Amino acid sequence: MDELRYQIDLLKAMNQKLSGRDKMFRLVCDTSNNAFLYYGFDNGDVITLGDWESFFTFKVKEVKDFSFIFDELEDKYIMPVRNVLFLEKSGKTKDSVECCLKDKKTWLEFETRISYDEEEKPTDKIICIKNITKFKKQNEELRYMAYYDGLTGLYNRNYFVMRLGEFIRRAKEEKSIVSVMFIDIDDFRKVNDGMGLIVGDEVVQQYGQFLDTFSEENVVVCHMNSDVYCMAIYDPCGSRSVEHIHKIIQERIHQGFTLSNGMDIRLTVSVGVAEYPEASTSALELINCAEIVMFKAKSSGKASLQYFDAPILQDFLQNVDIENKLKEAVFNKNFTMYFQPQYYTGTSRLRGVEALIRWKDENNRMISPAVFIPIAEKNGAIIPIGNWVIEESIKNYTEWKRKYGYPLIMSINISAIQYKRKDFVERLMGIIKKYDVKPDEIELEITESVLIDDFAEVKEKLLTLRDYGIRISLDDFGTGFSSLSYLNGLPIDTLKIDKSFVDKVGSDASTRIITESIVSMVNKLGYETVAEGVETKEQMDYMKNIGCDMIQGYFLGKPVPAEDIEKLLIELL
Ligand code: C2E
Ligand code: CA
Ligand code: CA
Repeated sequence: MDELRYQIDLLKAMNQKLSGRDKMFRLVCDTSNNAFLYYGFDNGDVITLGDWESFFTFKVKEVKDFSFIFDELEDKYIMPVRNVLFLEKSGKTKDSVECCLKDKKTWLEFETRISYDEEEKPTDKIICIKNITKFKKQNEELRYMAYYDGLTGLYNRNYFVMRLGEFIRRAKEEKSIVSVMFIDIDDFRKVNDGMGLIVGDEVVQQYGQFLDTFSEENVVVCHMNSDVYCMAIYDPCGSRSVEHIHKIIQERIHQGFTLSNGMDIRLTVSVGVAEYPEASTSALELINCAEIVMFKAKSSGKASLQYFDAPILQDFLQNVDIENKLKEAVFNKNFTMYFQPQYYTGTSRLRGVEALIRWKDENNRMISPAVFIPIAEKNGAIIPIGNWVIEESIKNYTEWKRKYGYPLIMSINISAIQYKRKDFVERLMGIIKKYDVKPDEIELEITESVLIDDFAEVKEKLLTLRDYGIRISLDDFGTGFSSLSYLNGLPIDTLKIDKSFVDKVGSDASTRIITESIVSMVNKLGYETVAEGVETKEQMDYMKNIGCDMIQGYFLGKPVPAEDIEKLLIELL
């Protein structure tokens, strides 16, 4: 009897323990924010647990009720979810699927686990349903940040490179073409500097929104950075041909954009185009090629479109090569100065020399300053180079003066970049003092590009130089905007008439008329004139006859090393 009582008590205790566990499992399910569905294969029991009500308004009591779930789903997810809900059909023990409900907002994940007996018959199935909407949204935001540009809302560079790669792979298979248009707003720096970053940003946004109107299945538009956009076009033809798109861009830009402050702005763009497979088979290289030709478009007058071709790339690569070698040359001061004599036309006396830099690369190849000076101006190397030129020229000058005592004028070419430096005048005066030369024996040759940017500031600097007694010469006159009226009031001593005029005076009547009127007007303004690049006696005689004061050119003397100038000075002793 006692034994029976003991057995009954034991069973009661076990039952209590079991219902305690059961409670615990229910609690875990309820607090997990998930819904669960249990299915026992033996008896066909369906039990729902957890937060079922917050997911569905219906109950699932038997297997056929699963169809209620399918009614809630977007069509394309029905099949994948069915496969997971009836996972036993595939014999798998575990699988999951993400799906979106018909409201297109709610995302659910269904995860199924199945137990099998030794004979591989399914025994129990548990399906866990999670709401992953928040997680999906966060992912979406991350994706947005990864693929979109915050300023314009356009795709960013990363996404562009990825899509361009896809276009290229497709074009390889379909033997098609992919064009990359590299679009850069002209003179954007002036907008940013002159009107402020906020206006600059709005300009970038408006241009971006306009360019985005070209987006379609086969056209991807992105904002690369700053004022640069890129377009990748798969199989460019018809309304998505480069010519057509460029035409629409030009037309739209011509109309101008109205900014939120009411200001109308009309900025042009320069476009470089490179195509797969002609230019390259790699996405990054294609973008690079398009960028290179965009620079070419900019340098040949802006507001234009330039197609990629091999010589442009060759030129570019050569410039890169020169740029690298130049860095080393600057470091080792691997330059020499040549000097070209200038003579008075009236007396044939030596007036002075123009200092011209020379550079031989490590293979003893002479690289023209016309090639490397513009590169040095772009990368800033012109500052150390220019300082070296000033010091070296003045050093030579003092040496000649000490030895031969001949009153020369040393003309030194100054790049606009050097001239714009705040410490330019101070530095120059420092060197002049150091070598104890008279300021009026030094003449600075500047080009009109110096005058373009900030006329008032430049004028002030010129006046300071003039106060010190330094001479100023305007180089390459006639090649820029060359309006004589703006010269009025500028402290200029000498005007150098560009070689392109001198070249044509023998053959072209209108050039003669222009040259004669320049010389006569310049004389009236009180400046001296130098004819540059005089190569023949006829040119020299002509320039002399029309009243040009000085002659410089191969006819009277090429640029030569310092020793040769010394020989010349010895002859004059
Ligand atoms: P530039 O200042 O106009 O110098 C005159 C150029 O014409 C020089 O070329 C000179 O050698 C060349 N030339 C002179 N007479 C004749 C002639 O009768 N026929 C021909 N065909 N050419 C003649 P270079 O030395 O090659 O210099 C080219 C340009 O490089 C210079 O043009 C100047 O803009 C720049 N450059 C040269 N040296 C310096 C420098 O030390 N500093 C700076 N910033 N620029 C320099
Ligand atoms: Ca010059
Ligand atoms: Ca010149």
